[in-house]
Amino acid sequence: MKVMKFGGTSVGSPERMKGVASLVTKSGKPTFIVLSAMSGTTNSLIEISNYLYRKNPEGANEVINNLEQKYIGHIEALYSTDEYKQKTRLFITEKFDYLRSFTKDLFTSFEEKNIVAQGEILSTNMVVNYLQEQGVKAILLSALDFMRTDKNAEPDLPYIKEKLSAIMKEHEGYQIYITQGFICRNAYGEVDNLQRGGSDYTASLVGAAIDAEEIQIWTDIDGMHNNDPRVVDKTEAVRQLNFEEASELAYFGAKILHPTCVQPAKYSGIPVRLKNTMEPDAEGTIINNVLVKSKIKAVAAKDNITAIKIKSSRMLGASGFLRKVFEIFESYQTSIDMITTSEVGLSMTIENASHLSEIVDELKKYGTVSVDSDMCIVCVVGDLDWSNVGFETLATDAMKDIPVRMISYGGSNYNISFLIKEADKKRALQSLSKVLFNE
Ligand code: ASP
Ligand code: MG
Repeated sequence: MKVMKFGGTSVGSPERMKGVASLVTKSGKPTFIVLSAMSGTTNSLIEISNYLYRKNPEGANEVINNLEQKYIGHIEALYSTDEYKQKTRLFITEKFDYLRSFTKDLFTSFEEKNIVAQGEILSTNMVVNYLQEQGVKAILLSALDFMRTDKNAEPDLPYIKEKLSAIMKEHEGYQIYITQGFICRNAYGEVDNLQRGGSDYTASLVGAAIDAEEIQIWTDIDGMHNNDPRVVDKTEAVRQLNFEEASELAYFGAKILHPTCVQPAKYSGIPVRLKNTMEPDAEGTIINNVLVKSKIKAVAAKDNITAIKIKSSRMLGASGFLRKVFEIFESYQTSIDMITTSEVGLSMTIENASHLSEIVDELKKYGTVSVDSDMCIVCVVGDLDWSNVGFETLATDAMKDIPVRMISYGGSNYNISFLIKEADKKRALQSLSKVLFNE
């Protein structure tokens, strides 16, 4: 079976939902589909929660009412029979009444999780109703019945596998199985989610759980590009990526794929195909086990990076210094992305700077600390095994007019990362495209 996941824009209107329905039924084979919320909905649900955290029920109600009108407005366009119009209207009203029920009580992150989950619950119900109205044998399986995270908030794959197989066995013979992306239960059974953009992760976990033949991620672009299309004028879709290359690109800024998504597919060896809903016949990008030798594939960039340098003569020849430094970051649950070292100094980058001042204060116990904000990691990805001669020179040559704060190479066989000022990003990415891809 194939898993097909559709993002927010792909289910963003009644027309798009109909498009999804025709795509998933085209092959005539049993298919498992994972849907995001309609685009903009998750943001609105978070806005509602923010009003409620600030004890402003009027503000929340206004967003709820506007969103409800929008959803009710989709009914006429989507369904052709009174039966399904009525059924869907009832469902939508019930969900919005449920949202309104939160405006009266104490508000915590528990309530927020329940509110935020409604986006995917709405979109999947609308689509399954549409498919059934069209006579397709489709069934909605609630993600809350099988998607679960463990005590470390990591997906519990053995549990998901066992539960989902049992559910599928109970419901054999359907053409289309639908579930919600993003939402899950935590180890205590409470409604939770896999973080923003987490529907990709759901698709990959479902694929691994049912041992799918392929996991398809449908978005509104024709695959992973060799550079950031929002920054560089001429970019091209990359047709094939190795799992490792794809993870590096997703982690270091390529917006098309959620960084965690690749892992379950990689461990189960299931290919992931990125496809474009607007151009369903275009090839897209395939992510699999194959590594094309001696080829640089793509460049990605990640903004909002802070660099921290600690210089200490105590580091000279001392053991245990790195551990002390890393423990400080760990105690503030701040993860480090890039590291470079010299005999007397250490530079690191972080993305989450919410505990920066505390971290810096503690680091000062060990040496002189300096901070550079508004930085950007530029990551060059491909077969960069150290035995390949000349690739790092090519990348550094492209950066020859850019002030570079850090360079990291050799951590994996798949990337070289540069830390530069955010203000230099456009110049750097353009130059890399020119040198590496002749663009
Ligand atoms: N709806 C969620 C979000 O907007 C999850 C997703 O679309 O992947 O983040
Ligand atoms: Mg997404």
